[in-house]
Amino acid sequence: MSDITQAPILATYGRFPLTLLRGEGTRVFDEQGTSYLDFCAGIAVCSLGHCHPAMVKAIEEQARTLIHVSNLYHTEPAAQLAQLITELVEIPGKTFFANSGAEANDGLIKLARRFGQHRPDPESGTPRSEIITFQQSFHGRTLGGISATGQQKVKEGFNPLLPGFCHLPFNDLTALIQGITPSTCAILLEPIQGEGGIHAATPEFLRGVAKLCKEKDILLLLDEVQCGFGRLGEMMAWRALGVPELQPDAISWAKGMGGGIPIGAFWTNDRSVDDIGTPLSCLLEPGSHGSTYGGNPLAAQTALTVLTQITANDLPANALAREKQIRETISSWKHPAIAEVRGKGLMLGIAVHAEYLRIPKGSVPAIHLCNELLKNHLLVPPAGTNAIRFLPPLNVSESDTSEALTILKTTLDQLSPS
Ligand SMILES: *Cc1c(COP(=O)(O)O)cnc(C)c1O
Repeated sequence: MSDITQAPILATYGRFPLTLLRGEGTRVFDEQGTSYLDFCAGIAVCSLGHCHPAMVKAIEEQARTLIHVSNLYHTEPAAQLAQLITELVEIPGKTFFANSGAEANDGLIKLARRFGQHRPDPESGTPRSEIITFQQSFHGRTLGGISATGQQKVKEGFNPLLPGFCHLPFNDLTALIQGITPSTCAILLEPIQGEGGIHAATPEFLRGVAKLCKEKDILLLLDEVQCGFGRLGEMMAWRALGVPELQPDAISWAKGMGGGIPIGAFWTNDRSVDDIGTPLSCLLEPGSHGSTYGGNPLAAQTALTVLTQITANDLPANALAREKQIRETISSWKHPAIAEVRGKGLMLGIAVHAEYLRIPKGSVPAIHLCNELLKNHLLVPPAGTNAIRFLPPLNVSESDTSEALTILKTTLDQLSPS
């Protein structure tokens, strides 16, 4: 094709002016062979970097063995992956495999609806169906996902949305206490809001949410699609945020778990939800939910390899060491354009004071900065209008991190008025 930027692909993404051909570790290469440091990593997807040998080997071997059969049959990779997830969660429960984060969250929404039907409002006997989510949250692009999402821009023009969602201010326990109604059956939150601009739940908020859920018989659902599986320095994101005692009822993942092969999942607790001991994980019985590709052998074997590599090489510890390096280096610059560094591990938001930078009129500061960083061969995604994100592979080296920081500093200097 003469100009691939003109390909007949629906223009739902504003793409950066770059065509990528190849990747290796923390680097990707364009048509001219120019190399870029990839601190976007597929938006927190390429946990092991590009074309990691263990991943390539797993994909090759599984492709030769069995790529796909229906979920009407048992397969080893999915069984082993579910077993590993249960060990990592460290709470008895069961996993459903999907293909993406939005699809995993749709599963959480269906679980919440089943729970609300199983445990109706004790006063009126009517099924509970309302799910509380938070402003600035992001839960995916399906109709369920955009209905759950607390950002107007993803919903524009798609009415009517799925009813039964209420969006409250994040990290505000008072608002939450007031927002719970007799119909509330679940609270869904991202331990660190990603697309909303990298905003972490405070430990007090998480503890308060957990307490309210217990008192009011409400499910606590965590969307760890972006922050899960090691990125925050712990395999379970909530454990990185200072509340290891939290007992979620269900968790969704996708992005980093497959390292680039599409897979999503949700896990749900085996705890009993009534007097006769029905486990929460049994409210979705045979025939109640499904996904043709979900957990197919190729995807499951790859995810098994990715998660095994993350734990075997203690990449969560590397995420924390690199966070320290990034925070210390940036604060040592005392750069007037840097407003703050937010987040945890390798899910960091670097906010700038746009008024200290030469940003062309009419352009969004974050996007302009991403474009200038790209020209200097560093790829990062934006986070809201005034911040960029650092989401490199979890195995990023100290020297690649240092190189990325040097590019950031140079770019900020170039954009600073002289
Ligand atoms: C990316 C993301 C999703 C959606 O995942 P897809 O795989 O794009 O459907 C959902 N929740 C969070 C927190 C995300 O970051």
